[in-house]
Amino acid sequence: MERQSIIHEVKKQDIFDIVVIGGGASGLGTALDAVSRGLSVLLVEKYDFGKGTSSKATKLLHGGVRYLAQGDIGLVIEALHERKTILKNAPHLARTQQFIIPFYDRWQGYYYLMGLKFYDLLSFKSTLGDSKMLSKKETLALLPNLKKEGLKGGVSYFDGQFDDSRLCIDLVHTIIEAGGFCLNYTSFEGYTLQESGNSLIHLTDHLSGQDYSIQTKSIVNAAGVHADDIIDKSGIEKNFSITPAKGSHLIINKSFLSSDVAIMIPKTSDGRVLFIIPWHGVSIIGTTDIATKDKSFDPIVTQEEITFMLQNAAAYFEKAPTEQDIISKYSGLRPLVAALDGHESSKDISRKHKIVKSKSGFYSLLGGKWTTFRKMGQDTIDFLIKDLQWNVKKSNSENLTIIPPANKNIGKPFHDLLPYTSAFFDYAIENELVESVEDLLARRTRCLFINKNATLEIVDEMINRIAVAKKKDVTWKINQKNQFLHLANSY
Ligand SMILES: Cc1cc2nc3c(=O)[nH]c(=O)nc-3n(C[C@H](O)[C@H](O)[C@H](O)COP(=O)(O)OP(=O)(O)OC[C@H]3O[C@@H](n4cnc5c(N)ncnc54)[C@H](O)[C@@H]3O)c2cc1C
Repeated sequence: MERQSIIHEVKKQDIFDIVVIGGGASGLGTALDAVSRGLSVLLVEKYDFGKGTSSKATKLLHGGVRYLAQGDIGLVIEALHERKTILKNAPHLARTQQFIIPFYDRWQGYYYLMGLKFYDLLSFKSTLGDSKMLSKKETLALLPNLKKEGLKGGVSYFDGQFDDSRLCIDLVHTIIEAGGFCLNYTSFEGYTLQESGNSLIHLTDHLSGQDYSIQTKSIVNAAGVHADDIIDKSGIEKNFSITPAKGSHLIINKSFLSSDVAIMIPKTSDGRVLFIIPWHGVSIIGTTDIATKDKSFDPIVTQEEITFMLQNAAAYFEKAPTEQDIISKYSGLRPLVAALDGHESSKDISRKHKIVKSKSGFYSLLGGKWTTFRKMGQDTIDFLIKDLQWNVKKSNSENLTIIPPANKNIGKPFHDLLPYTSAFFDYAIENELVESVEDLLARRTRCLFINKNATLEIVDEMINRIAVAKKKDVTWKINQKNQFLHLANSY
């Protein structure tokens, strides 16, 4: 994949069937489904693929035990099916994960088991393993650091786990291989409707500073929390609104779990669930859920959120994690489609996606979750082709294998605390549309998420490698370092 040649090819096309705005889960799912039907598609992403919410998830492929409790059965069934589809199509970055809900009241244990047996049932043939009751001894054998006093046992169940931004970049690769086009650092700046009914889309290339326009028959707005800004830019009437809800995570040393089993805390002090999950050799604690008006790309994890997560986790550990144990942290924004009356709290607004037509040929895909990204894309294309009365092949995205990166991550890691080899960094720089050191250290590899200080120790070396590969000068290197240090402040 080479950015300049993609731009060159894009400019040579007379007209696209679909232009997708946004290179996160929703946009990539839509573009994937479009190419699976033989449609011509261009996806544009203002920053880097996955720069928005899609690199900041809890990394779960799940039906949503919580949505079950809210009675959203249809959403759970759909997500459990898609969980299996991702495990099948992207086995290199998705895996089955065992969870335990520890309980200190026997009746609560039976209650959770009943709910999870129902969860198993809803997965039909897509089950990843049976939920079952564990004795205190069995629970402690798997999670020796759990608080022992009063512990009655645990309920074990299975869900999926994945690497979100790696899925973004592998999807880009898959879409391009299938004949589509994806461009990072390219923003949608507006469009002009032509007499033919087609649209002229105005784009800005943020690396060269150049503006250009391309023709398309239709537009899909998949800009996450920024979807309503896209409508504003387009000068069309807004018929939906987005309420962003911030969710934060802490990264702590893996030793707090001391096994590959994750913990689900079923009820936090604000009535939510909290996960502690092993991931890339560390543990993720998350998440919070706070309605916000701030749409920044790297929201700050507040002291209040840190205290909330540590306090709720502490109740379950013999040796509880403290602030000194935090080795990184990150926060993302849920793009929730706001309830019309505005009375629901963000944790009650449905995670089900919505497809909204704003004008003929202009559609927005809103809300949803990573687990269902492919089905969200399929539903969007189904909606669009029905509305525009196109005669197009059926979706085949469910059967498309997601292309893995070349096998370069075998051997001694470049840094003891980061799971990537020197060869993998070089491979990503050369082959994965890396334009900044942040692309390399936050999304092609997950270094910044895994361990901030270790990442800061390799940043100079990585800036140099990118500079050599992409022929960048000293000023570029200084800017990269300053921008990365600024970003790392929020991690
Ligand atoms: C804290 C948290 C935890 C979560 N955990 C999970 C989980 O464990 N499992 C799960 O299934 N789901 C999870 N989700 C949900 C999931 O992450 C989101 O639903 C999904 O990532 C949203 O993807 P998106 O493509 O809609 O938005 P985004 O990823 O934000 O993508 C939108 C993109 O549009 C781009 N854009 C904006 N304006 C323009 C423009 N003018 N031109 C071009 N591009 C533009 C942005 O740069 C951005 O990259 C979680 C969400 C949060 C917030």
